[in-house]
Amino acid sequence: MLPYIFKGDPLPPAGNLRELRYNPLTGQWIMVSSERAKRRWRPQGYCPFCPGAEETGYGWDALVLPNRFAVLSREAEPVMGGDILRRAQAYGDCGVIVETPEHNVKDLDELSLDHVVKVLKLWQQVTAKEMSDRRIVYLAIFRNKGEEVGVSLTHPHGQYYAMPFFPLRPRLMADNARKYYRRFGRCAFCDIVRKELEDKERVVYSNGGFVAFLPYYASWPFELHIYPLRHVQYITELSDEELKYMADALRASLGALNALFSRQMPYTFNLFQAPLKGRWPFLHMHLEIYPLLRDRDKLKYAAGIEMSTWDFTYDSVPEENAGLLRSACESVKPRLGLLGTCGAGPGII
Ligand code: UDP
Ligand code: ZN
Ligand code: ZN
Repeated sequence: MLPYIFKGDPLPPAGNLRELRYNPLTGQWIMVSSERAKRRWRPQGYCPFCPGAEETGYGWDALVLPNRFAVLSREAEPVMGGDILRRAQAYGDCGVIVETPEHNVKDLDELSLDHVVKVLKLWQQVTAKEMSDRRIVYLAIFRNKGEEVGVSLTHPHGQYYAMPFFPLRPRLMADNARKYYRRFGRCAFCDIVRKELEDKERVVYSNGGFVAFLPYYASWPFELHIYPLRHVQYITELSDEELKYMADALRASLGALNALFSRQMPYTFNLFQAPLKGRWPFLHMHLEIYPLLRDRDKLKYAAGIEMSTWDFTYDSVPEENAGLLRSACESVKPRLGLLGTCGAGPGII
């Protein structure tokens, strides 16, 4: 008999499946949902995120909506199952953060500094809300941009997944940062930021509270990481002033990426915070941007080696690419009215 048979817990009817499935070989949970297939693919002539749509109404600058085709839900059917093929309840929350009522805004760098601060305040609110649910372990706040990434709706929006498990990649980062902390008594992320600021050559932007650099160990040609200079685990710990610096660093980074090839850069980004439960003094909140282009009309694909072993080849020189991004940053600085410096600002270390 196959082990994948759960007593008293029949599989839901085909076509209505929502559960977590565990890959015992990688330690990864796969979020399975047949609901996802129902979402409309690039609808023409109607936008569910525009003002006046069914769920949005009027009179807002930015707002959080529940994801209509959520892979995780607080209403997910309880399921369980053991043996080698395990499954678990897809408990959680998926939301959409509509960033502006303006449908045609192409990216966050086109929004004013104050407006981006409003978006980040929503990230704070989502974080606080999900922290108060004792079953939520990890929150990913992310943004997909561009057809190349596969966005289904172009109205400016980000998303979040509040998950009942600690995902593999941030778990790996935590394991390594914990080891470093035990060995040296310091935060690995703080040490990386300090070293990047010392080296300067990969720093793309810095201001009074944040720094953006193309990391020494970048996987994507124009990958950018944005860090608060202060050691914090959650966005909810940031003061209003720090939030302004974060918004400024985000605008500078996205502005530079969009100026780099004189076209909109497709990318995904994710805010890495500590898990929402437990104490994680060795973790340091930061945002990672993975831009997809390596040239104006060339995509960097995650292909053979990237997809199979999760190892990346870097097909140019990180320091040179950081220099290109710094120049791109300079070119947008007046338009964006940036608060800081394209590169490592004087006195920031
Ligand atoms: N969506 C929604 N309400 C709608 C239409 C779509 O909540 O009326 C969700 C949809 O499930 C999707 C998100 O909006 O998750 C759009 O996300 P995006 O285009 O960034 O990428 P996707 O999640 O589709 O890969
Ligand atoms: Zn719209
Ligand atoms: Zn730190």
